[in-house]
Amino acid sequence: MKKYKHIFFDLDRTLWDFEKNSSEALSEIFCEFKLEEKSIPSSEEFISVYQKINDEMWDDYRNGHISKKVLRSERYDKTLQYFGVENQELAERIGCHYIAESPKKTHLFPFAHETLSYLKEKYSLHIITNGFEEVQHIKLLHSNLMQYFTEVITSEQAGYKKPAKEIFEFALQKANAKPSESLMIGDDLQVDILPAKAMGMRQVYFNPEKQNHSEKIDFVICSLDELTEIL
Ligand SMILES: [Mg+2]
Repeated sequence: MKKYKHIFFDLDRTLWDFEKNSSEALSEIFCEFKLEEKSIPSSEEFISVYQKINDEMWDDYRNGHISKKVLRSERYDKTLQYFGVENQELAERIGCHYIAESPKKTHLFPFAHETLSYLKEKYSLHIITNGFEEVQHIKLLHSNLMQYFTEVITSEQAGYKKPAKEIFEFALQKANAKPSESLMIGDDLQVDILPAKAMGMRQVYFNPEKQNHSEKIDFVICSLDELTEIL
């Protein structure tokens, strides 16, 4: 007997390899904008400083402390400032370049296509993502992922960001799914897994780095192809 009808996936760091794609786009930026000539020592250092600043600012954005506009305009300004470069205009150009180019990157986690092809035959698949509407759709299109999903719910469209219960309610309603017949798959315990559990959905924690945790979760996988054994 089939227990589930609907499977909801997170996108970034669950299917779409955010770190790899982002690093590739940032390395290109380092060369194209000749940042070495601005006394930024290496693309590795540029990327690592940017990622730290971006992660902190994303937390602020998720918690509603800063707007999308501030997140987008200040993360590069702060990164350049860290290296002693005061150039808001350059930061702006880099920001625009990153937004335009990084979503076109196509690195996915291993077995993403194989697993989604298998699951699509048996379940309705959907996305719940905190990314920006226009950016997330470009990622799905360029990575050829659109074909698998019935509903793509972004936080911008829902008006709420994960872990808010409202975005899960919105997604379930849009997919016409009951929590009891739904499963959420994601890489973030606080953002994807625990709120899904609170909604009465079953959960699969995608934990490729095998991070320690003490939560009680229905399934934990470290590779996407393990889903074909569970589902
Ligand atoms: Mg994620």
